[in-house]
Amino acid sequence: MLLYLYDKKEDIQNKEYHDYQNNISIDYPYFNNLIIDNYLNDYLEPYRNQGSDWGDLLFIDYDYEQIDEKINLLLYIYQENQNVVSKEIHQVEFNTMEGEITSKSNLVDTSLEYDLGSTKVIDQEKPMLALTFDDGPNHNTTRVLDILEKYGIKATFFILGTNIEGNEKTIERMKNLGMEIGNHMYSHKLTTNLTEEEIKEEIDKTNNLIYEITESYPTVLRPSYGTINKKIKKTVEQPIITWNVDTQDWKYHNSKRIANKVIKKASDGDIILMHDIYRATANSLEIMIPKLLNEGYQFVTVSELLYYKGIDPEKGKVYAYAT
Ligand code: ZN
Repeated sequence: MLLYLYDKKEDIQNKEYHDYQNNISIDYPYFNNLIIDNYLNDYLEPYRNQGSDWGDLLFIDYDYEQIDEKINLLLYIYQENQNVVSKEIHQVEFNTMEGEITSKSNLVDTSLEYDLGSTKVIDQEKPMLALTFDDGPNHNTTRVLDILEKYGIKATFFILGTNIEGNEKTIERMKNLGMEIGNHMYSHKLTTNLTEEEIKEEIDKTNNLIYEITESYPTVLRPSYGTINKKIKKTVEQPIITWNVDTQDWKYHNSKRIANKVIKKASDGDIILMHDIYRATANSLEIMIPKLLNEGYQFVTVSELLYYKGIDPEKGKVYAYAT
């Protein structure tokens, strides 16, 4: 379950998994070589005994190469503590002929904390929120992405078809950062004024434009203005996502006001409506994100929220929150 997210990260091979909180413990690697296995036992023993004080998760990944009687072993130890994943690299060289360790070194690699941030492990027992941004992208979206990247968190962007041209690089960046990309229709028309064919055209056009850039279709849809009727429910091929916390950032361009609304209202499973096209909205993130992280909230995309709450989303069905 938690391992699932890490499985997607292809460059982590041979991983072993320990989760002290849930008392899951899978044994670390064995080489069927007495010197190496004894060495590993001794080296990893302190980690095994530190229990949950040490951190929620421990991953042990390893690589090794053997040249004649020499075995060069690299141990990567991943640990998560207070939302930060760090990686320790321990290198040992064994001489199997002589039965001894010829060299060893230790390095804590903090540069990788960032990479792992985008595949951050979500704890289902802790509260989560889905930040959503409509009507973009525009020049301001870059600033929103900078802040999300800085905190290593994910959000969902409901993109407007007419805003795609000229903002291809921003959309590519969203995808690379692991943001979820949703469809906000093409020209922001009130859906209740459109025929079934017009609705379909508005959705398809945006789906295809996003596909051309990201090579995947938007996973979720939010109708322009969030207006839903029978026609749109029938037409859409994706789940429909609305919200249950409205920041009204389009009305009040005041970062403190926007941030306070979210901080005051937020509770587990909420979907929060914002617009990435405003500077005040971007600024409000710098206020609300650290505060909410401190309170123990985790930020997830809409699809992750539904997944972690055990909801299997259906096309044409409306989701405003998930508990
Ligand atoms: Zn909108």
